[in-house]
Amino acid sequence: MRIIMLGAPGAGKGTQAKKIAERYKIPHISTGDIFRANIKNETELGKKAKAYMDQGMLVPDELTISLVMDRFKEPDAENGYVLDGFPRTIPQAESLDAALREDGSQIDHAVNVDVPDGAIIERMSGRRACVNCGATYHLQYAAPKKEGVCDHCGDGLILRDDDKPETVEKRLKVYHDQTQPLIEYYAQKGVLKEVDGTQGLEEVFSQITAVLGE
Ligand code: ADP
Ligand code: ADP
Ligand code: ZN
Repeated sequence: MRIIMLGAPGAGKGTQAKKIAERYKIPHISTGDIFRANIKNETELGKKAKAYMDQGMLVPDELTISLVMDRFKEPDAENGYVLDGFPRTIPQAESLDAALREDGSQIDHAVNVDVPDGAIIERMSGRRACVNCGATYHLQYAAPKKEGVCDHCGDGLILRDDDKPETVEKRLKVYHDQTQPLIEYYAQKGVLKEVDGTQGLEEVFSQITAVLGE
């Protein structure tokens, strides 16, 4: 099963993508996580990506598309995946389609986690991320067992620099300009599935499993 997660930054794509990956036994591919791992390891790609990410801008398509295409070639992605944070622009979606066509495959579901802008700032300001393993928490809605400590690996939790309110506003604008048009793009392909992302974590997940229908 090949699934795309759509939705504003902070809508809950990552949270739900991890649950989908576990339930359907497919890899969770997050471009944000790949970029952050590159930044941590101080790679050339990481240095380039950081300059854009810190400003709440998208990393250019030339850097992003080749990265994802390489990830698809890994053996675990052969029978499907859940893509979180890609595509984020029409050219990215078109490149993905072209690559899938070559393999004779296609996207099965594009799940749009719908959350209005008003709720996003609250989601983002309470988000905490593990510096080591990338797990995410929320101070109120998905708190770690011990404050400031990752449940999975015991490392420290931080507020991402790009989750500060000024950058979140910029990211929301970028989302509306560049990413939101993908909703229509996938609706036209007949694979769009809408879920109400304002509900609780488990409620959103049940809506998703219901629309995936498997
Ligand atoms: P969030 O989960 O809050 O939506 P991500 O972790 O997906 O954020 O992405 C963080 C940042 O990484 C984005 O603001 C952007 O700068 C960059 N990024 C991630 N995916 C892409 C992509 N597909 N195209 C361009 N930039 C991306
Ligand atoms: P995205 O990947 O779309 O940027 P995340 O999955 O990282 O979003 O979620 C953003 C923040 O909101 C995180 O702190 C997460 O724990 C929290 N969150 C996710 N889904 C919900 C929900 N349904 N209700 C309340 N908080 C949520
Ligand atoms: Zn961790």
